[in-house]
Amino acid sequence: MDHGDCSETLHELYHFLDGELTDEKRVLITEHLEGCPPCFEAFDFEAEIKQYVAQKCRDRMPDDLRARIAQAIGHAEPDASST
Ligand SMILES: [Zn+2]
Repeated sequence: MDHGDCSETLHELYHFLDGELTDEKRVLITEHLEGCPPCFEAFDFEAEIKQYVAQKCRDRMPDDLRARIAQAIGHAEPDASST
């Protein structure tokens, strides 16, 4: 199965959430998400953010969220400094 590249998929997620992707792309992304829990979590997370941003602040988001997005996009390991 060709699930594509994770970081690439996550980048596409931005456009997916913005409704800028073609149906074909959506299918590809959705298929990747179903086979890739890390990306699925990132998608869920970003979908939440999109809603938050759309409701609260369209033009800017808290640095916290931005940092988390950056991590999600890079599939970076979560920093263990949350204790
Ligand atoms: Zn993935």
